Amino acid sequence: MRPSPKQNINRAMSKKSVIVTRFAPSPTGHLHLGHAYSALFAQRSAQESGGRLLLRIEDIDQTRCLPAYEAAVLNDLAWLGLTWEKPVRRQSDHMADYQAALIKLDEMGLIYPCFCSRKEIHAEIMRINEAPHDATADKRGPVYPGTCRRLYQDDRNMRIAAGDPYALRLNMQKAIYLAEQKRKHLTWVDLDRGGQRATPEVFGDVVLARKDEPTSYHLSVTVDDAVQGINLITRGEDLRDVTHVHCLLQALLDFDTPDYRFHRLLTDSEGKRFAKRDKSLTLQTLRGEGKTLADVKALVKWA
Ligand code: GLU
Repeated sequence: MRPSPKQNINRAMSKKSVIVTRFAPSPTGHLHLGHAYSALFAQRSAQESGGRLLLRIEDIDQTRCLPAYEAAVLNDLAWLGLTWEKPVRRQSDHMADYQAALIKLDEMGLIYPCFCSRKEIHAEIMRINEAPHDATADKRGPVYPGTCRRLYQDDRNMRIAAGDPYALRLNMQKAIYLAEQKRKHLTWVDLDRGGQRATPEVFGDVVLARKDEPTSYHLSVTVDDAVQGINLITRGEDLRDVTHVHCLLQALLDFDTPDYRFHRLLTDSEGKRFAKRDKSLTLQTLRGEGKTLADVKALVKWA
């Protein structure tokens, strides 16, 4: 019989002195019911184990994140009854940490500049006659065909000198090879499903720094979780698959691999996932309508 989450938490606790988990919203809009569920889930994971709950503001996308949303997010979380330790880590304050991680990976010969546009990547995939690979469950695009990995160093230098914008990608094959020198097996523990083996190769050469930002989702969250001493990561099911990439980065950067728990995703009456554009389901709107915390918990079927 599968162990209950409670038993799993106990198992995790026997390994670690104190559970440290986090809730990590992006202030690109108001929190909706899906976020409320996720925040309550993180809080309960901390409380069940007498652990600590940290908060992180994931605002690397400076074109979409607004201070007004951040203030509203904090306000909504307090209304939900969450308490968290101060100071709150804000990603945009820690670009130097992501840069240091990139330098370390670069020194290991694992990253290369990629000048391709989305259109060029798509055209190249069509040219080599491979159906765009949909294994990237994080929905961040098809698997990169490796075009710029094969550029000569002189060409790279010329394009950089000419000011061509570029992203930085991880050479996945080499990264797995080096990570396996450091850790024999790339694995993590899902507290509800048991030990999992990482297969990051299905993601191909992921982007670690975007053309418009000096970091990426994968790199920042991996660094942040290590810097914040997070040993239990809770997230929605939609982010289960990115663990393959994060587990690899943890090995390369000599970080401990935390344990993980994934929660179900809430859907509306038509079965669609809640999105920030569904204004009627934001905590702001619901609170404005006089809904209480108990009402919100009933709406998200919080038991
Ligand atoms: N910031 C991400 C979001 O709001 C989730 C963070 C994570 O757990 O990776 O969807």
